Amino acid sequence: MGYKIPLFDLNFDEAEALAAYEVIKSGWISTGPKCLEFENRFSSMLNVEHAVSLANCTVALHLALEIGGIGPGDEVIVPSLTFVATVNAVRYTGATPVFADVISAENPTIDPKQIKLLTNERTKAIIVMHYAGFPCQMDEIMEYARDWNLFVVEDACHGPLSEYRGQKLGTIGDIGCFSFFSNKNISTGEGGMLVTNNTDYAQTAKLLRSHGMTTMSYQRASGHATEYDVLRLGYNYRMDDIHAAIGLAQLDKIKADLEKRAKVRQTYLEYLAAFSEVTVPFGEHKEFSSNYIMPIVINGVGKERRDTIREAMHARGVQTSVHYPAVHRFSIYRNEKIKLPMTEAITDSILTLPFYANLSNDEVRFVCDSLAETLR
Ligand SMILES: *Cc1c(COP(=O)(O)O)cnc(C)c1O
Repeated sequence: MGYKIPLFDLNFDEAEALAAYEVIKSGWISTGPKCLEFENRFSSMLNVEHAVSLANCTVALHLALEIGGIGPGDEVIVPSLTFVATVNAVRYTGATPVFADVISAENPTIDPKQIKLLTNERTKAIIVMHYAGFPCQMDEIMEYARDWNLFVVEDACHGPLSEYRGQKLGTIGDIGCFSFFSNKNISTGEGGMLVTNNTDYAQTAKLLRSHGMTTMSYQRASGHATEYDVLRLGYNYRMDDIHAAIGLAQLDKIKADLEKRAKVRQTYLEYLAAFSEVTVPFGEHKEFSSNYIMPIVINGVGKERRDTIREAMHARGVQTSVHYPAVHRFSIYRNEKIKLPMTEAITDSILTLPFYANLSNDEVRFVCDSLAETLR
């Protein structure tokens, strides 16, 4: 608020309001037909067998690891250049997160070479995070994971509809996890989805999202069931129909939104080409991407200078962000033995510029001019 150009703008209008209103009027507001419809449309959009709607992506990551059999004594390899939830999810299971470095400023995704170096007999899983909607090196990671029998979870929060060699992100590993938090490509306020081609995994996800119970209230209310058993220790990780209806309205818009984003990114790339001191992650990438955010790396600057640049941009009315403060530096994960030189260089010199579908050409130019003035 108060910025001339905010970091993000919600793609909401009457359609979302009406969708929520209709669910409220229907009298059934918790998990029910809208969740099912949202799941069906999401899975067909991604060409994946199963989608299970959930309260958010953090719980999707937790369920994914639990379904993968991850528990105390196990190690899970994770990136540090991600949102903290990617790593916290490992801790929920009692397992230990092991941080892997990223490849480079051009490709700030988990480095397959680091994954190999960090693997030992306790390693059970890898969580990859498709940074900004651009793919991790999935061919190499999947081949290695199959050889070593490692479970692969894709944190695909940034990449709905992004592709890697023709496959949608989130559908390549064992389980993919998506977020519909308000600032994501698809927004429902809070919301998440777990996707998989494995029917057992999907059934377990449905069981665990609802207390481990064999039936849900909607089935009982609609007369399809009268009793339930509790098979396993589950949770309340469900989405509700109000959020699902908003999600359906968002799915109507997602393709057009992503096409506009691709154009905005192109405009950015044209202006940023003049900045010799700036590296644009995935600047040369050609495959379809959700273009979730517009990060740039200002080569050679440290955290102090980067933060000064941020403040100067803010003074010009341009909101910026940092994706991400490295997770391994947070108090709960800090450990002098962790060495991630590439992640540390990137986290101190990266800056996220405003990005959303309706950002105009003039606004992009204003952001880039502000950056130029600030760097001078
Ligand atoms: C947003 C996000 C999450 C968490 O999603 P929630 O739905 O807010 O729980 C996890 N990982 C990444 C990479 C994210 O961007």
